[in-house]
Amino acid sequence: MLQNEISVLGQNLSKVFNSAGGLVKALDDVSIQIRKNEFFTLLGPSGCGKTTLLRIIAGFEYPDAGDITLENQSIKDDPPHKRPVNTVFQNYALFPHMTVAQNISFGLEMLGRDKSAISGTVSEILGLVKMEDLAERQIDQLSGGQQQRVALARALAPAPRVLLLDEPLSALDLKLRKEMQIELKRLQTETGITFIFVTHDQEEALTMSDRVAVMQDGKILQVGTPEEIYDRPASMFVANFIGECNFIPISIGPASEPGEKTSISLPSGGSAEIPSEKLENVRGNPVILLRPERAQLNAQIDESPMSGVLKQIVYFGTDTQYHVEVENGESSPLSLLVRKQNTASGSYKEFKEGQRVGFEFELNDVQIIDG
Ligand code: ATP
Repeated sequence: MLQNEISVLGQNLSKVFNSAGGLVKALDDVSIQIRKNEFFTLLGPSGCGKTTLLRIIAGFEYPDAGDITLENQSIKDDPPHKRPVNTVFQNYALFPHMTVAQNISFGLEMLGRDKSAISGTVSEILGLVKMEDLAERQIDQLSGGQQQRVALARALAPAPRVLLLDEPLSALDLKLRKEMQIELKRLQTETGITFIFVTHDQEEALTMSDRVAVMQDGKILQVGTPEEIYDRPASMFVANFIGECNFIPISIGPASEPGEKTSISLPSGGSAEIPSEKLENVRGNPVILLRPERAQLNAQIDESPMSGVLKQIVYFGTDTQYHVEVENGESSPLSLLVRKQNTASGSYKEFKEGQRVGFEFELNDVQIIDG
């Protein structure tokens, strides 16, 4: 990435907290490059360090080690109000006794912006978040979704270089959250501001982001586009955190020449030939990663490389999930999933719980990693 394309650059950032239970390593030598005009998401389970990283960028937290630059200038020692960065908090933190317009203009006044220009900026920003008609409403007379828009408008009004968003949609119901996801993406595209979004919701991360960083235990495990993270997860943790995934342990036959195929043994005794390139990074415990929507069932079990018992069929409206148990010589069978869209011809209407089924997949659709 060229220097002038980088918005936020974090280098070797570490942060340890002294909490009641002892020392907690919230960030463990994290380095990250976020591009200008990018919708970048920090994704990970609770406690993985997302908010700590966001707070270090905002200036609310000081790193124990490492540096943080914004457009090539170190901001590590700048107080929050000196950074061209604004934050939208989870609880919105609006002033309830003020109107919508006053909430937006207050921050601009505090920044000493020219009074004559403020009202123009307020109307412009209200237009951007489609709240023109509600400018004179009190905050406590607004719905949750409307309050969310005001919080966004207030944070966008000073035209920050970077907008930080800490789980801003978590208080909204599912339908509104989906609407706001589209709205946030639109706002980011229209304003060209770099958005850094924190969430533990993988769907939110996939639908809005240009790139996603998946975090665990204070570390960044993988950074990539939604497609890269979903289709080529670098570890079992990433694969499992981003959607559902089948993990199929295999053993690999004798190594073959690059460009040739290598034989692999599957849990139920079947085997397959796989392009040797797919095994390049695999050493100890090879595992196939297979998304459930890329797996298929077959009533003719002898046509499939694996077979098992169809234990459960769960209807989800748009698709149906099939749980298959494959005996693999271990004390507990291997549990696998198949997802099939409910189109007129799509679903497996003929399959019944309890029957034996073949389990198959295209070798092109799988990834093999060390388990
Ligand atoms: P969540 O999704 O629950 O907000 P997170 O990924 O944002 O989690 P952080 O809030 O960054 O995680 O916290 C990372 C770790 O640091 C956690 O174990 C948390 O308990 C701890 N931590 C964060 N802030 C403090 C603090 N001020 N004092 C002590 N421990 C803290």
